[in-house]
Amino acid sequence: MAGFPIKTCVVCGEEFELKPDKPGFANRCPSCSETDAEGPGPTEHKDAIARQNEAEVNAERRRVIRDMLYRKDS
Ligand SMILES: [Zn+2]
Repeated sequence: MAGFPIKTCVVCGEEFELKPDKPGFANRCPSCSETDAEGPGPTEHKDAIARQNEAEVNAERRRVIRDMLYRKDS
């Protein structure tokens, strides 16, 4: 039975099976990936950017709808 590729974790040096559905980095063992995911920082930063993008998309959507309404009135 063929297993998954064995990788060495860059954080703790432990060997681990790189499973296709493993969350986190491909060069980190599952426990080191978990430690990273729990901490704040990059994730929070990404959320902030996502929120900003969402706000910009919503603003653009409102503008387009407003333009359509004005066009209909004239
Ligand atoms: Zn590790």
